[in-house]
Amino acid sequence: MIEIFCPNACVNSIFDINLRSLRARGIKGIIIDLDNTLVEWDNEELPEEVQEWVRNARKMGFRICIASNGLKDRVESFARQLKIPAISKAVKPSKRPFLEALRILRTSPAQTVVVGDQIFTDIWGGNRLELYTILISPMSDREAVTTRVVRKVENGVVSRLQKKGLIPEEVARGKRVKARRLRRLIKRAWSWASEDAKSDLMAGRR
Ligand SMILES: [Mg+2]
Repeated sequence: MIEIFCPNACVNSIFDINLRSLRARGIKGIIIDLDNTLVEWDNEELPEEVQEWVRNARKMGFRICIASNGLKDRVESFARQLKIPAISKAVKPSKRPFLEALRILRTSPAQTVVVGDQIFTDIWGGNRLELYTILISPMSDREAVTTRVVRKVENGVVSRLQKKGLIPEEVARGKRVKARRLRRLIKRAWSWASEDAKSDLMAGRR
């Protein structure tokens, strides 16, 4: 079950994503998270190098769409500055925003990558639709209270995936959670998951 949370690749930041190799594997669309992926959470500033990265990726032929659980005004203001489409209040990991992004990007799941800093929203959501998923380290350690709680569970999942050799050791994500505590936390996360996410997992679909 834990494999559903496993990203296809882990890098430090968007700047470490090898866009040439993505293009070589037929990727044409990028669904990208906003907070702590493109901009710092609770910060209105859009770094110049992020704008440059987006411009460069688009020049290389990638179509990009933001998918964020954040509020409409904030998400749309950054999307406007970056001149790319966006989906706000996405409720990731639900499938709906990812399907909508695929429609906007006009790409198939096999042609699309998801980039984000959270396992339980970006990576899980992308894996459910069999998109290529890239986990990055959050830009800042400032985040919403709810995210901080979820992060504790996530850290446990990361260390389990590392023990299984599924993701590299360098992806350090804070304190590790003891196995018993982790089982309890996963059980709690499971009780939060939507019925549709659960039935997919039980049926072995990703
Ligand atoms: Mg994020």
